[in-house]
Amino acid sequence: MTSKMASCIFCKIIKGDIPCFKLFESDKTLAFLDINPLSRGHALVIPKFHGEKLTDIPDEDLTELLPVAKKLALATGAAEYNILQNNGAGAHQVVEHVHFHMIPKPNAQEGLGISWPQQ
Ligand code: 5GP
Repeated sequence: MTSKMASCIFCKIIKGDIPCFKLFESDKTLAFLDINPLSRGHALVIPKFHGEKLTDIPDEDLTELLPVAKKLALATGAAEYNILQNNGAGAHQVVEHVHFHMIPKPNAQEGLGISWPQQ
């Protein structure tokens, strides 16, 4: 483990050292609710492989990320949503571990059996 991984908040979430509201997990991918949501159901989808930017992640660790973001967008029932991914501080990246935001617009409905917690 590198020192960057040891201090990475999202690596700590992956290890279970920091709690999260988990939405999806596989051997390569984790999705959970954003702690400071822009709307109800705002989720983050991350590779378990630690890398700061999209270009740092091997292709095989990227394949699930958009399909999972799509599943979560469908699960909110939102007709409108943003999928965002920032690379570098100048591009508004704060957490230095690759993540996709799935941000439903505020009209998101309960859907597909997921009960989103009140945030
Ligand atoms: P960025 O600006 O890097 O694209 O977004 C980072 C996101 O991570 C922010 O929306 C922020 O609220 C979220 N975040 C930061 N720390 C934590 C945490 O400990 N738990 C969760 N669930 N989300 C976090």
